[in-house]
Amino acid sequence: MSRPPSDELLSRLKALVGPSGWTDDPEILAPRLVEWRDRWSGATPLMLSPASTEETAAVVRLCAEAGVPLTVQGGNTGLVGGQIPQGEILLSTRRMRAIRDVDPVDDVLVAEAGVTLAEVQAAAEAAGRRFPLSLASEGTATIGGVVSTNAGGVAVLRFGTARDLVLGLEAVLPDGQIWRGLRRLRKDNTGYDLKGLLSGAEGTLGVVTAASLKLFPRPGGKATAMVGVESPEAALDLLARARQSADAGLEAFELMARQGVEFVLRNIPGHRDPLSGEPPWRVLIEIASPDPVGAGSLMESLLSGASEAGVIGDAVIAAGEAQAAALWSLRENQSAAQKPEGATWKHDISVPVSQVPRFIREASRAMSAFAPGCRISAFGHVGDGNIHFDVLRPEDGDDAAHLARRAEGQARVHDIAIALGGSVSAEHGLGVMKADEARRQKDPTEVALLMAIRTSLDPGRILNPRVLF
Ligand SMILES: Cc1cc2nc3c(=O)[nH]c(=O)nc-3n(C[C@H](O)[C@H](O)[C@H](O)COP(=O)(O)OP(=O)(O)OC[C@H]3O[C@@H](n4cnc5c(N)ncnc54)[C@H](O)[C@@H]3O)c2cc1C
Repeated sequence: MSRPPSDELLSRLKALVGPSGWTDDPEILAPRLVEWRDRWSGATPLMLSPASTEETAAVVRLCAEAGVPLTVQGGNTGLVGGQIPQGEILLSTRRMRAIRDVDPVDDVLVAEAGVTLAEVQAAAEAAGRRFPLSLASEGTATIGGVVSTNAGGVAVLRFGTARDLVLGLEAVLPDGQIWRGLRRLRKDNTGYDLKGLLSGAEGTLGVVTAASLKLFPRPGGKATAMVGVESPEAALDLLARARQSADAGLEAFELMARQGVEFVLRNIPGHRDPLSGEPPWRVLIEIASPDPVGAGSLMESLLSGASEAGVIGDAVIAAGEAQAAALWSLRENQSAAQKPEGATWKHDISVPVSQVPRFIREASRAMSAFAPGCRISAFGHVGDGNIHFDVLRPEDGDDAAHLARRAEGQARVHDIAIALGGSVSAEHGLGVMKADEARRQKDPTEVALLMAIRTSLDPGRILNPRVLF
């Protein structure tokens, strides 16, 4: 049974981390107690920022002994509320900032939990290698966060999610023990995959303090294109062609509806539409090659074949890095551009790739009937079957009225995804937002198994007690 912290415990915790390792200053805490979408705000008596794995272990051990829960926070870019404390002590990884090793022969980079994803990418680049995980939040999201949420992003098609990129972990378990599992082996068949279990555990099975991560060769060339298509079906046709012609070189294949592009053009300064004719859908494609020119030739032949077959409309291939960044910016600002438009019901669903058009069709029909006049912005990683299906209030609608119907609307969208063999959380996790939805949808045996694993490691629910089941 968890308890609020006593003054004595708070004093002992402060002493453990020293004066630079704690704060209860409301001004410093304020940005850490709200999340990016302003959906959750929280409270904490104290933020602890241990500087090392050993300090983290000492903090967790003391809290476990006292039965006092902790909420773990990295960059605070999570979208399902798990990192926002509701009265628990906040354990921040912001001071664990070392890149411990970059080894281009083993193709491994070892980073501590508080290093941002962008810093890991830059360190890999500096060593002539590449860490391919890529999210719009990479300047702030941390390695501890991306591993713990098993983050996805735009390069999953080729490289997989964060879990696929982890070779080993170091973590503090809920009783304060340190698991030193920072292996760097490509093959290690010696029992349960504990690093895989902690990846995506959203901080419920341990505090990740460091990770050894897979590196890859840097591409010699890249080609980026934006292509107009008439329908999600046409996008899937193009995806099949792209896979056939570019094979493993196909790195990203992102779908966007016209509505979302209009939001970016209207609300985020500095954008223009590179395509003519206002296509109802568009795809952003990225192909990489080991040599400087291969990617461009592959892209040109892909697009000319698709154009001859009548699969695509207007298309533009970026002439350089600046143009490629401008095309990506239209995609990466899809979420940010919704903010000025008012209240939204967000969804992060996945379905088998073949079912994406049907999901979009059925969910759009259902939402137009349920919330007449709503504006639908569907976009996402269509090559992974992952669609962010966002339902905004009508243009002249009322935020509070739209939000009042959110749970019912979301359940309808989720039911459609599940009926098509899908998931209610493709990449953002469950956090506190979707735990009930997942429990409603999951096989009870699976829920019981997940609970049994959690209870065996954290019987007192010390770590992230409100997250998951
Ligand atoms: C603009 C934007 C774009 C995004 N795009 C994507 C995307 O394309 N794909 C995607 O998957 N996500 C995306 N996200 C979501 C988010 O960036 C990821 O979930 C990211 O992995 C969170 O990292 P963080 O360091 O900010 O973690 P936080 O938000 O701080 O925490 C997230 C969860 O992980 C836990 N946690 C954090 N650090 C640790 C640790 N060291 N040990 C144990 N548990 C920990 C927290 O308790 C919480 O439950 C996006 C978010 C934003 C704001």
